[in-house]
Amino acid sequence: MADCNKTLEELELFLDGELSEGAHQAIQGHLDGCMDCLSAFDFEAELRQVISSKCRHEPVPPGLLDRIQACFGLDEQDLGLT
Ligand SMILES: [Zn+2]
Repeated sequence: MADCNKTLEELELFLDGELSEGAHQAIQGHLDGCMDCLSAFDFEAELRQVISSKCRHEPVPPGLLDRIQACFGLDEQDLGLT
């Protein structure tokens, strides 16, 4: 039976699906019975969802590259393109 410290330690691996089946079940079993670890798990899982949905749905806006170049005072000449 996993305890709280071990559960929190392995939360990352649990979310990544990198635990062995036995270890995964031990963490899952602990989460089922421990509100503290469950809320930590929920937070971590939600955080990951937000990050991955941001990465997926917000491509670099067109023109951003131009603005970055303008910001640093670069133009195509400076970049050696002409
Ligand atoms: Zn716990």
